[in-house]
Amino acid sequence: MLQPESILQEECLCRMEDELHSVREFRSNGGKTLGYLCRGFPPSLAAGLGFRPLRVLQEATIEMEDRGGKLVRQDICPLIKVFLGGIDSGKGLFGLIDVWMGLATCDQTRRCFFALADMQDVTVHHIQLPATRSESAARFYSDQLQQFCFDCRDLYGFEYSRKRALDYSIDLWNAGDILRKAVLSRHISPLDLHWLFHLYLIADPAGLTEILLDLLDRADLYSPDHMIAIAGGSLALEDTWLLQALQSRNAGIIPLHCAGLQLVPFGGLNEFPSAGTVEELADGAFRSIRCARSRSNAEMFQYIQDSIADTSCDGFILKTLKFCDLWYTERERFRSCMSVPVLVLDTSYGEGEVERQRSRVDAFLETIAL
Ligand code: SF4
Repeated sequence: MLQPESILQEECLCRMEDELHSVREFRSNGGKTLGYLCRGFPPSLAAGLGFRPLRVLQEATIEMEDRGGKLVRQDICPLIKVFLGGIDSGKGLFGLIDVWMGLATCDQTRRCFFALADMQDVTVHHIQLPATRSESAARFYSDQLQQFCFDCRDLYGFEYSRKRALDYSIDLWNAGDILRKAVLSRHISPLDLHWLFHLYLIADPAGLTEILLDLLDRADLYSPDHMIAIAGGSLALEDTWLLQALQSRNAGIIPLHCAGLQLVPFGGLNEFPSAGTVEELADGAFRSIRCARSRSNAEMFQYIQDSIADTSCDGFILKTLKFCDLWYTERERFRSCMSVPVLVLDTSYGEGEVERQRSRVDAFLETIAL
């Protein structure tokens, strides 16, 4: 488990352990958890069905990557290897998942979820997240999630409750708004923000707003020399070397990736929920994706350009995961169309790798400081 380096992070770790404890209690009382990887899935929909949704972006270590790497081809992205290694080990959050949302977002996730269905007697619901950005694609996605609700009624006897889904999504929205303000305040360090967002990924949102306000009240104030926007693949909990490198050079972050600001009401994303219907949640999640995999992904580029301008960032870092071509193939376009200096980092979770990349970050920050 990642070691906390500040009071806020220690508190976050305690809160995360409290959440895991409440998840175990929930399961021991007959409840079912639903695990998911991609931000394209609306957790409020799972809550509406009675699941405890958990976005599993943890255990991202070289050991877990190696373990998962034994189960799949080598040219698979490290996050997928960690995912399969985590399930194979049953460690941490992975051991607390009853049902997986098998959202296929690329060839690798598709193969991964089918491999998973063979690996263990864990139920995987296979759903295709369309890359095409069109009305019919949005409807196709919504219809699949509606069918998922029907399947859950038949398989688990779960009835969808609009009120439960709406209450959950309103609590999530309000807590997310606190995180948005924390980022834009520029007074919270990159690592503290990272821990807060990861608490947000697994916490029950009921009462989370007050918890976040209390944690932020006691955070060490940070005053960065430069602001760096970060985008690319999702940043798992243990994947902190880039944030440590930036923080050690007193740089602040605008986390534009899908485990950061894409989750909260920022940049025109994530409207305030009003109905709690399957359609509203599916449509809201689909329209709030700002991912390189989208066709076209012009909205993603616009979101990053606007966010860099609106937050007066001095530089942009595209952090991709090895073998994840979704983002890496766009590197030249990023270099040519961003209004600030761009650094592209193609990464995995290996130690040696981190040292090499860290010196590139230092050099990048020096160019910005000039
Ligand atoms: S990078 Fe794209 S496909 Fe991958 S988890 Fe994030 S939103 Fe989903």
